[in-house]
Amino acid sequence: MADCLFCKIVKGEIPSKKVYEDETVYVFEDIEPTAPIHYLVIPKEHISKLDEITEENSGVIAHIFEVISKLAKDMGLKDGFRVVSNCGAQAGQSVFHIHFHMLAGREFGWPAG
Ligand code: 5GP
Ligand code: ZN
Repeated sequence: MADCLFCKIVKGEIPSKKVYEDETVYVFEDIEPTAPIHYLVIPKEHISKLDEITEENSGVIAHIFEVISKLAKDMGLKDGFRVVSNCGAQAGQSVFHIHFHMLAGREFGWPAG
């Protein structure tokens, strides 16, 4: 997607602080962190949001969760962490390339905050 911010980040056209990369997944630091650790985990292919996951593209989403699990283990996040994907504007999605916020390093409230 030519006009997509996160596609540009994957291609290196916009700089980002890379945390992890493989053939299909890219992980980088959120520019406005809301926790001491705030990563964005994205597929390199453009999927705009959660309700566009299909049988055809769900393999990369499964792999994203393998990556999150490995990162959490490697980073020693024994006290817990949170993964969030906002789907659609009403839910707070502002960048329409699917992403999973990986948040850690503080207490998290529920349902808010
Ligand atoms: P959303 O609001 O769609 O769930 O999350 C989008 C996230 O992308 C926000 O947390 C925002 O801070 C982050 N973000 C927006 N623009 C950029 C950017 O240019 N670089 C990085 N690293 N993060 C960004
Ligand atoms: Zn994109």
